[in-house]
Amino acid sequence: MGGTSPCAGRPACSVCGEAAVFHMRDRRTHLCSTHLVADIRERVAATIESRRMITPGDRIAVALSGGKDSTALLLLLHGLYGTGPVDLVAVTVDEGIGGYREATIRSAENLARRLGIRQVSVSFPDLFGRSLDMLLRGRETRACSICGILRKKALVLAAERAGATKLATGHNLDDEAQSVLMNVFRGDLQRLARDPGADSGGRFIPRIKPLTYVSEREIAAFLLVQGIWEDLPECPYAVHALRREVRSMLAAIEYQRPGTMLCLMENKKKIETAYRERVGSVALGSCRECGDPCSGGLCQFCRLRRVLGL
Ligand SMILES: [Zn+2]
Ligand SMILES: [Zn+2]
Repeated sequence: MGGTSPCAGRPACSVCGEAAVFHMRDRRTHLCSTHLVADIRERVAATIESRRMITPGDRIAVALSGGKDSTALLLLLHGLYGTGPVDLVAVTVDEGIGGYREATIRSAENLARRLGIRQVSVSFPDLFGRSLDMLLRGRETRACSICGILRKKALVLAAERAGATKLATGHNLDDEAQSVLMNVFRGDLQRLARDPGADSGGRFIPRIKPLTYVSEREIAAFLLVQGIWEDLPECPYAVHALRREVRSMLAAIEYQRPGTMLCLMENKKKIETAYRERVGSVALGSCRECGDPCSGGLCQFCRLRRVLGL
């Protein structure tokens, strides 16, 4: 909100009055680089706290693809917990996507090394016998859903290898708000109403998403102001995804009406609560083949395994 800073006629940081580098459109505030980083860090700490995502003694497997979100996540968690009371391990999955994954894998390895964080890497050929490129031949239009299911399984296996008690992923506000809309479009009320913080009863490694309330734009700025920005290629399969259309639509609405994505997340929370009160908590069963949590019979991975002949 502040006035104009003496330097370069730029808006002033609402906290300290220095030249601002970022406009938080939904909160109508301007922030300098120091206060942007501090603001994001505080919000992530508050999200972790409010959902009791992390407890002392945890070993957190941080899904590190090497892309922007996971890079920011590892940096933030390292900033918050680098000296305890939890142990951080980076877990990286190489899906085998020619011409795209090599650069991001390298970026992931460099970051883990620079922060002194142990890294556990797995690959689709190791785990499933073939690379994603080979598995997708003739199935390119379903690339993101197939890859999503396999990658989720691979991350859990890597987290188990790392001896982790939690698996943290870099899903940001845009991803989560897109998922809310996509579940609405698909009419999937059960998935829409699922409480991500629900107790797993110790049957599987709980997944946590500490960046749920940090937008893609904020993550990009967070990396830029710290000089950690790397221009990496986009996944070649993303063109086929419904998510891509939802993403551009939601980004346009958010630009016109800042705060729309947060509003969607608030509504998801209300739906979770209402659903829980009416139907009881959305209890997950176990897959009859692999024992993983699922809503009934076979899990998505085991169903896909049959289709792909894994
Ligand atoms: Zn400031
Ligand atoms: Zn299964």
